[in-house]
Amino acid sequence: MSETIRQTLARASAALAEVSDSARLDAELLLCQTLNCTRSRLFSHADDTLNAAQATQFEALLARRKHGEPVAYLLGHQEFWSLRLAVSDACLVPRADTECLVDWALSLPGDALQVLDLGTGSGAIAIALASERPGWRVSASDASAAALHIAQRNAQTHKVAVNFAHGSWFEPLAGQRFDLIVSNPPYIAEGDAHLADLHHEPQSALTSGADGLDAVRHIASHAPAHLHAGAHMALEHGYDQAQRVREILSAQGFQTITTAQDLAGRDRYTHAQWKGA
Ligand code: GLN
Repeated sequence: MSETIRQTLARASAALAEVSDSARLDAELLLCQTLNCTRSRLFSHADDTLNAAQATQFEALLARRKHGEPVAYLLGHQEFWSLRLAVSDACLVPRADTECLVDWALSLPGDALQVLDLGTGSGAIAIALASERPGWRVSASDASAAALHIAQRNAQTHKVAVNFAHGSWFEPLAGQRFDLIVSNPPYIAEGDAHLADLHHEPQSALTSGADGLDAVRHIASHAPAHLHAGAHMALEHGYDQAQRVREILSAQGFQTITTAQDLAGRDRYTHAQWKGA
C-alpha cells in the first residue's frame, strides 16, 4: 500500500535514528528532494500519498543515508555563510564551525587585500570572503581537480571572481605573496576513531599524518615565502591541537599567535601574524 507523507516521515526518521543526530530533519530534507517541494509543503500536504516512482526514489536516498552518506551529498548542496554551495564526494562538506574562521578574516581591515585559501575544496571559505569583500583579490588552490571544478561552479553561481589554482598547497603559487592566508586543512590523525563516521568524505581532506598535523607543518613552513610583512594567517584545527599548532607557528617565526573557538566553544582555529624575515 502506498504511504502518506506523514507515515513516510515517521518511518524514515525512526530508521535514521541510529545513524543521525538529526534523523527527522534528514528524512524531511530527503523527502523534499524526492518531491521537489519545500519543508512547509510536507506539513500542509501530510496526508498526500507518494506514487510508486517517488517511493522508489525516496527509498534509494534513505538507504544511502542509512549507510552514513552525508545529507549534503544526497541533496548535492550545503549552506555555508548563507550561500548555497554545490558539493560532491570530491570535497569535504563545509562545516558551520568553519564560518567562525570566515568571520575572523572579515574583521581584518583593508579594502584590497590579497587573500589565499589553501585546500579550498568546495570553495566555501574563498567564496564567502569574495562575496563579502568584493575589493579583495581572492586566490584558492586545491590538489583535487574534481574539487576545483565544484569550487569554480560555486564561484560562478555566486558571481564572485576567485583565482583558482590546481596543485598541492603553495605549489601552483610560486612567487606570489598575500596579505592573508586561510585554510581548513586536513587535521585528523590517521587511524582516529572519528574517521569511521566520515568514510564518505575524501580522506585526503580529512587526515594528515600520524598526529594529523602534517598539513599544518607544511603550510606553516612554506607560508613565510608567500606572505607580505605584517600579513596574517589563520588555520583551522582540531579542538585538542591548539597548543601544538601554536608551537608550530611560533617555531616558524610567526607572532601574535591566538587561538579562537567554534560555535560549541571548542578551540577551532589559530591565527598569527608574519612580521617579516
Ligand atoms: N571538522 C571536521 C570533522 O571533524 C574535519 C575537517 C578537517 O579535517 N579539516 O568532522
